[in-house]
Amino acid sequence: MKITEHIASAKGKPLFSFELLPPIKGQSIQGIFNTIDPLMEFNPPFIDVTYLREDYIYKQHPSGLLEKVAYRKRPSTVATCAAIMNRYKVDAVPHLICGGFTKEETENALIDLQFLGIDNVLVLRGDARKSDSTFIPTPGGHAYATELLEHVVNMNNGVYLHDMMEGSEKTDFCIGVAGYPEKHFESPNLETDFKYLKRKVELGANFIVTQMFFDNNKYRIFVEKCKKHGINVPIIPGLKPITTRKQLVSLPKVFHLDIPLELSEAIEACKNPKDVKEVGIEWMIHQCKELIKLGAPVLHFYTMGNPEPTKRIIQGVF
Ligand code: FAD
Repeated sequence: MKITEHIASAKGKPLFSFELLPPIKGQSIQGIFNTIDPLMEFNPPFIDVTYLREDYIYKQHPSGLLEKVAYRKRPSTVATCAAIMNRYKVDAVPHLICGGFTKEETENALIDLQFLGIDNVLVLRGDARKSDSTFIPTPGGHAYATELLEHVVNMNNGVYLHDMMEGSEKTDFCIGVAGYPEKHFESPNLETDFKYLKRKVELGANFIVTQMFFDNNKYRIFVEKCKKHGINVPIIPGLKPITTRKQLVSLPKVFHLDIPLELSEAIEACKNPKDVKEVGIEWMIHQCKELIKLGAPVLHFYTMGNPEPTKRIIQGVF
């Protein structure tokens, strides 16, 4: 079922969903199931599975020579989605990224997804490889989420790459895109970011999932501005509780967001790691209750492979 249909059939009741990373190459799917199992009692209508671009590693030969090789650490987003759908009978939402794929490979992946009965995709540009300072598009691939989105929309209209066949089957993907209440870090300003977000919706995006944030005012203003720009699709807040003191530094660094002073001071005042976790969870429970009042259609959690804090939050909210 499409995410927009899940939201419509909930009739204003907020839904709960979450996101996980596919297993590291060489690990079993059981780790994923162990993350999902404790959260199934809350009936998530869909579960997102992220995609990680390939990176370069250096392999040392017996001669001492270093060889630079491309390596995909978590190659199995499509298979992970299939395993989740098969086991839990919920919708799995694969993240599709531009980086690391030619258009042909992207199209083949989308055909696989359609055959698997996957109804939703989240289309993204993807992050830069760790070994690159900026995002470098793959030769023959898409450079922006807008291009990838157009590709999916074309397939939804029955238009495939190099298509010489008449009457090609139309795919029917419900398409999500990313939004940034605190601005995408490469955008010169929020207005430019909105220009591209609006473009994504005009091209056919059906819903937006936001980057994480810790100040609901940022979400409220973002939603208001979206409306002002004529962006009227559901805006799903992406959420993650702070669970360690280190995240006061790592989350702003990696995700380009602000942590409110009240929260950072409360965490700095904690005497031990357990207290830090409690403060993070309490903050997020409060945030979620407010988001429900603000009309958030879904509370979407970045679990990072650790279901316990999300479980505590959902128990505290619903
Ligand atoms: P885009 O929409 O392409 O935007 C990138 C930048 O270019 C922005 O500054 C934008 O303003 C600008 N821009 C957009 N379109 C154009 C255009 N046509 N011309 C010129 N400039 C333009 N990363 C992963 O690698 N894997 C994941 O699974 C993943 N999941 C994510 C899930 C969510 C909910 C979010 C919020 C992010 C996720 N990311 C993921 C991170 C994301 O890939 C990065 O934030 C990336 O830097 C931007 O992706 P985007 O889709 O927003 O890019």
